[in-house]
Amino acid sequence: MSNYEAVIGLEVHVELKTKTKLFCGCSTEFGKEPNTQVCAVCLGLPGSPSGVLNKKVVELAVKAGLALNCEIGTHTWFDRKNYYYPDLPKGFQISQVFRPIASKGYLDIEVNGQSKRINITRAHIEEDPGKLAHAGGSITAAHYSCVDYNRSGMPLIEIVSEPELRSGEEAKAYLEKLKAILEYTGVSDVKMEQGSLRCDANVSIRPVGTTALGTRTEIKNMNSFRAVQRAIEYEIQRQMDAVEDGERIIQETRGWDENKGITVSMRNKENPDYRCFIEHEATAIELTQEWIQEVGATIPELPDDRQKRLVLEHGLPEYDAGVITSSLALAELFDETLARHPDAKTISNWIMGELLRLLNARNMDISESKITAAGLASLLKLIEKGSISNKMGKEVFEVMFEKGQTPEQIVKEKGLSQISDEGQLAQIIDEVITNNPKSVEDYQAGKKQAIGFLVGQVMKATKGQANPGVVNTLLREKMSK
Ligand SMILES: [Zn+2]
Repeated sequence: MSNYEAVIGLEVHVELKTKTKLFCGCSTEFGKEPNTQVCAVCLGLPGSPSGVLNKKVVELAVKAGLALNCEIGTHTWFDRKNYYYPDLPKGFQISQVFRPIASKGYLDIEVNGQSKRINITRAHIEEDPGKLAHAGGSITAAHYSCVDYNRSGMPLIEIVSEPELRSGEEAKAYLEKLKAILEYTGVSDVKMEQGSLRCDANVSIRPVGTTALGTRTEIKNMNSFRAVQRAIEYEIQRQMDAVEDGERIIQETRGWDENKGITVSMRNKENPDYRCFIEHEATAIELTQEWIQEVGATIPELPDDRQKRLVLEHGLPEYDAGVITSSLALAELFDETLARHPDAKTISNWIMGELLRLLNARNMDISESKITAAGLASLLKLIEKGSISNKMGKEVFEVMFEKGQTPEQIVKEKGLSQISDEGQLAQIIDEVITNNPKSVEDYQAGKKQAIGFLVGQVMKATKGQANPGVVNTLLREKMSK
């Protein structure tokens, strides 16, 4: 099967973080009662005005375009994409079909230690349709569907990649990088679970060594980056098996079924014809180079630069720096903790080890954790001073993660303090030596591993609170006499 290679392009829809919609003053707030954030403009009622373009949308789209290394169009406009669907009351979607606001950009991904540049064809502004809820879950099983127009007219940018991705893993890496860039830039919440980032994948295969594109299918309904990767991997294999069996791949839309782990045919899409035409004059967007530069100046340090800085200035390994800068929240937690406790590698170990472990285990987003930079820095100080052991530290961290108490509070409540005081330990060690003459004899006869048992006895006597390093040193001293 390795005679074939996969050709994958992604279309990513990102809701822009504005207070109001693209052409009207309706709120864009997520999670409100259905159909409470609508007006004549975004419902497209007959005779309603076309509305006024939200300038903030243009600013955020330009910002995203620049962060993605795109050329920005100084003279662009909107077009009508005509089609009928219940979530689109006007019968057409306002989009930028003929001239996108941003084009010819790129971003760099890293997969298996290999860097690869993925070109971005275009990023254009468009309005979101409404949202259908199918009673009974799926569109095929439902007896009826409900429509919510709160989302209708919300501003989006659609970011289209060149078909340069070759695997599900590359697609996931592309999405992670894209998400991080948009998050750093502040143009979107990029929350896949709330629908502010949605992704469709175009997948085809072709014999290795050829350049012509095969017939592609478009995969929809993927609710996480992991799902995108799995859906693409499944679809590549499905197409390869079909071709192997002498079948023809048909151009169609396929939905990802998360539970079954398969893609299923949704609708045939041999010849989509949206009958696009230019929207009237009033929607032209004229930008000056000066204004574009002003917007560009507001772009903060982006993930790639931040990763380099963590390597060069703080000596973090590339890998650590890559993981930490993959999310703005992690990167900020790192920087803010570092300002309080200048030990970069230890901080990175705790973030990558304990924090990510707990987030993964509980399937939580970093925004839901109660870990703060101040809390993490205090915890690392307690461990460094020897007030608590590293092992106790992990226990404390878990409580901080869930309840948000300070490490000092948790240590006090749980009675977790570590005994490092030699005077306090000396008496217990003396008792352990007196009560275990055989082990002492073994140790003095050269069986150095016998000390492990004795350390264990001291730990037991102190209910695990003795500092094992101090115990070890004291035991050696006393037994060498
Ligand atoms: Zn409205």
